[in-house]
Amino acid sequence: MPMRFDTIVIGLGAMGSGALYQLAKAGQRVLGIEQFAPPHRFGSSHGETRITRLACGEGPEYSQFARRSHEIWRELEAKTGNPLLVQNGLLVLSGAGKRSAGHENPRFIATTIEAAERAGIAHELLSDADIRKRYPAFNILDGDYAYFEPEAGYVFPEQCIGAQLQQAIATGAEVCTGETVTGFATADGAQVTTDRGSYTAEKIVITAGAWLPDLLPAHAPLFTARRQVLYWFRLKLGAPMQNYRPGKFPVYIWRTLSRQSIYGFPWTGEGTPTIKIATEQYDTSTSPEAIDRTVTGSETRAMYDEYVAPYFPGASPDCDRSAVCMYTCVDKALHHRRAAGRSACHCRLALFGPRLQAFGGDRRGAGRHRDQRQGERAEVRSVKLRNADLETRRHA
Ligand SMILES: Cc1cc2nc3c(=O)[nH]c(=O)nc-3n(C[C@H](O)[C@H](O)[C@H](O)COP(=O)(O)OP(=O)(O)OC[C@H]3O[C@@H](n4cnc5c(N)ncnc54)[C@H](O)[C@@H]3O)c2cc1C
Repeated sequence: MPMRFDTIVIGLGAMGSGALYQLAKAGQRVLGIEQFAPPHRFGSSHGETRITRLACGEGPEYSQFARRSHEIWRELEAKTGNPLLVQNGLLVLSGAGKRSAGHENPRFIATTIEAAERAGIAHELLSDADIRKRYPAFNILDGDYAYFEPEAGYVFPEQCIGAQLQQAIATGAEVCTGETVTGFATADGAQVTTDRGSYTAEKIVITAGAWLPDLLPAHAPLFTARRQVLYWFRLKLGAPMQNYRPGKFPVYIWRTLSRQSIYGFPWTGEGTPTIKIATEQYDTSTSPEAIDRTVTGSETRAMYDEYVAPYFPGASPDCDRSAVCMYTCVDKALHHRRAAGRSACHCRLALFGPRLQAFGGDRRGAGRHRDQRQGERAEVRSVKLRNADLETRRHA
């Protein structure tokens, strides 16, 4: 192993594996260091599926990255022969009354529509009658409406990480697993210390997810880890199974009448018939050390009663399995002289993992994107004002 690398990537989850692969493809000498054996179930990138969408309610500026990530998933599928991306469409559902925010944005649908219009992303606006006719599994209210995006769908995060690491290694990257980075310094390049040794590089990319505060203690107050639970509820005997398969059951984000939004996935047709469903909670915080990875029966029952039964009458209270995961919410982007620190969870960006190199890896690319984003910021502000009108009109 060379003693000096162009870049060292710390943490090989969805983001780090993507950064490592893209940097290796760009011809860099790269090293990836991961404390566990990736993919694993202790961070933010596990749980079988993740939604991917081109128009993002988090902001129109993300569409370019989402589009490119779809191309990269397809390239990786061709190289590895493994399915990574299913494009079965996305519904973003809402309606009258006080609705939950979508990913902390109360104008989530309006921002999504604006993003689609701006980037020329195919989409439809569906009425309650359209939704009932096309997607009968969804128990909507009279007057509900939806944004539908046919190119959206879901990825398999564990397979995506595996494919990116496999291809990174095939392209010349070095990977150390079961090795924990204990610190770094950035005088005359970057020196990374682990529990097994030390390495040097021109730059480091820190994609450590919920562990970012350990590596960047001075910035720890900027990060908040939130416990999230994923549930797979069995379908009732007698429920029309075809209505829960990908063709009749797009992925969805639903602004509910309760406190939290829900999102979910179809039954893929394998194993016990289930639908995967989750909420997003931003009320309590945790850490990788403190997180409770047990999901209790009462927690599951409360989830079913409030967020499953009213929306999917075909789902039974019988929970096949569950998983605990962490969002790492970030208050501000980090800038460090020789380190790029990134956490993707605050805007649920598993889908952009393969595009991380543009921010963190390639210095010229990073500059280009920063400039572009600054230019866009003014536009985004005016878009948000227009969204306010749009969604008010829809509710009227
Ligand atoms: C429940 C849930 C649902 C989500 N749904 C969606 C969705 O539908 N669509 C979407 O786009 N996004 C979604 N997201 C967000 C997306 O999954 C995350 O943005 C993404 O997986 C984050 O990846 P990451 O690489 O930043 O973090 P992680 O996967 O946690 O990776 C960080 C890695 O760094 C390693 N590490 C940390 N410290 C060290 C150290 N000192 N030394 C060595 N290694 C270290 C960790 O072991 C870990 O492997 C969801 C997230 C969650 C939690």
